[in-house]
Amino acid sequence: MQIREELAKYCNKVYQSGFVAAYDGNLSARISENRILITPSAKSKGEIEPQDFLEIDLNGNLVNGIGKISTENKIHLLVYKRRKEINSVIHAHPTFATIIASSQVEVNQPILPEVLLTIGKIAKCEYATPSTEELPKTMLPFIDFANAFLLSNHGAVTISTSIKDAFYKMEKLEHFAKILFHLELLNKKTLISEQKIQELYAIAESTYNIKINENNRF
Ligand SMILES: [Zn+2]
Repeated sequence: MQIREELAKYCNKVYQSGFVAAYDGNLSARISENRILITPSAKSKGEIEPQDFLEIDLNGNLVNGIGKISTENKIHLLVYKRRKEINSVIHAHPTFATIIASSQVEVNQPILPEVLLTIGKIAKCEYATPSTEELPKTMLPFIDFANAFLLSNHGAVTISTSIKDAFYKMEKLEHFAKILFHLELLNKKTLISEQKIQELYAIAESTYNIKINENNRF
């Protein structure tokens, strides 16, 4: 599938999944070392079509296309500059992820094994005004290792080597946030024991070739 078609498909899925409201959110994909395709501003992700994406360089200059670049492009540019292996960035406002991001609930709790393995440590970034230079700066302490970011009182960012996987990381993050939200309300959660976490990490390293280090260890 052509990259524009694929990016449009996942824009539509982000909207249909309820991860954004109205014109919110922005998605991008790397098309070469220094070029990306990104969503235009003020267009619903549910109505995006392949020809709508704007091609920009990593300094934020418009290279190809007509329209206004998404105002949160600075988040995307930071990720692509700092993480050469990353090919897609999704920023959305999923309900439960945004609730947890706007609360004092500790997000990195050993509750679901697959979250430990597929997302790893979730970055909880301090609040900054949307669309400013300050917002990507809040991601800096985590940028070299995290694949999922909660932006305080705002939303979430997921990044990956592919558009599809960045979307599934967002879906997984939202699913986990929903479970965490209800567990906190229930006030009777149980956590995976330290011994079982170590077993999980052993499987992760031997079977899934995931390197466990201080950046993703709970
Ligand atoms: Zn936002």
